[in-house]
Amino acid sequence: MTLDQSWFSEPVEATGSAFSLKGRKLHEEQTPYQKIEIWQTETFGYLMTIDGCTMVSTRDNFLYHEMMSHVVLNSHPSPQNVVIVGGGDCGTLSEVLKHPEVRSATQVEIDERVTRLAEQYFPELCTRNADPRATLFFGDGIQWMKDAEAGSIDIIIIDSTDPVGPAEGLFGKRFYLDCIKALKPDGLLVQQSESPLLHLDLICQMHAAMREAGFARTDLFHFPQVIYPSGWWSGSIASRRDTPPVQRLETRTISALDTRFYDADTHRAAFALPPYLRSALRSSAPDS
Ligand code: SAM
Repeated sequence: MTLDQSWFSEPVEATGSAFSLKGRKLHEEQTPYQKIEIWQTETFGYLMTIDGCTMVSTRDNFLYHEMMSHVVLNSHPSPQNVVIVGGGDCGTLSEVLKHPEVRSATQVEIDERVTRLAEQYFPELCTRNADPRATLFFGDGIQWMKDAEAGSIDIIIIDSTDPVGPAEGLFGKRFYLDCIKALKPDGLLVQQSESPLLHLDLICQMHAAMREAGFARTDLFHFPQVIYPSGWWSGSIASRRDTPPVQRLETRTISALDTRFYDADTHRAAFALPPYLRSALRSSAPDS
């Protein structure tokens, strides 16, 4: 079957696969950084794409946003100062602000147009943008982290696009060195780390670079994400202290978060790795 103009389709040449949604394009613009499109789909609500890649849909964004925020916040003894790099749709910011312990949450997004379009098409993700604890900064996260005050941040969440274009430098040792410097001694970093099925090499490289930069340990967790290639996604946590994120969960009183996917059970389950992931990560560890 050939798809006509009434389908959004994201073909991935490297894997010979594609994800498609039926709908119609409502908006398209080229910003100084990337091409953004908004689609009205028949079954997933609105869809935002960047450079042809799916970013956010109304129907399934809660999976990604809940897992990219609550897992790491509930793995930290006292998450007060949080910085989100990327995340311009404001969904992660909104979840972070559900935690009463958070005193400040700064979103560092390179492309202001992502946020302005999210306000228009995904207003439910932007309802906490006016929270006095929130700061929306528009600029490059790589430079922001270089300039960050040393030892000032509890948690860094890297909610970026794929490692190409402006996001490429967010996936390397040089950036992780700046993150370590900016984190407090208990600090944690979490980064979206693509598909555990399609991007295993990248995941292993990221973990190796995080350890080489000086993080004491790295942990992979995973969750479903329908609109991303393979429908299965991951996050990687890099910790300054050598304490497993699941162990830290047991010492936390979890606030009522009003979540649909995340709870203490899905937190624990997300770290249960299938054998092939466990052994790939073990054999790529710098000290193995
Ligand atoms: N959840 C999505 C995913 O995993 O595909 C990512 C969503 S969010 C829209 C990604 C954001 O990262 C984009 O808005 C993009 O502009 C931003 N971004 C990419 N590189 C960046 C950089 N160097 N500094 C700050 N933001 C960046």
